[in-house]
Amino acid sequence: MRNRLRSTIKWGGTVLTVLLLVVWVGSGWWWCNFTPRSASYATAIDRGTLAVKWVKPAPTLPDKYLGWHMGWNRPFRFSWWFRSESGTVVRGGNATEVVVPLWLGVLIFGLPTTILWYRDRRKPLRVCRKCAYDLRGNTSGVCPECGAGFDEPHP
Ligand SMILES: [Zn+2]
Repeated sequence: MRNRLRSTIKWGGTVLTVLLLVVWVGSGWWWCNFTPRSASYATAIDRGTLAVKWVKPAPTLPDKYLGWHMGWNRPFRFSWWFRSESGTVVRGGNATEVVVPLWLGVLIFGLPTTILWYRDRRKPLRVCRKCAYDLRGNTSGVCPECGAGFDEPHP
């Protein structure tokens, strides 16, 4: 059961990391943003970053600015670092914007996943797990000393 959970985390982490990697690199070519009906904040994925913007008081925006939007960056554009900006005025409201590079997400999910994979790589079994009898050269799959079976590779 523990092994199963570990395997789920490992594979889940791998899928998430690959997905984030694709979004990160891909967002150099395309952007997408979302603004809720209240327009009190807006989020965008663009140029390898995730940007969140808060506006106080929330402006009244025409319908065409609300919801999801997507588009292409031509040419490819990329931003690598954190950025924050406040004090700008957006339609009469005070805007604060925080920009986080998406490689941070790749790192947060990718690093522990990599460590899990690295730790779980199969090591050649040199001695019996049960009695520590030397198993080098043994191809029978059974410990001759205590009779315990093993299916791990051995040198
Ligand atoms: Zn043994």
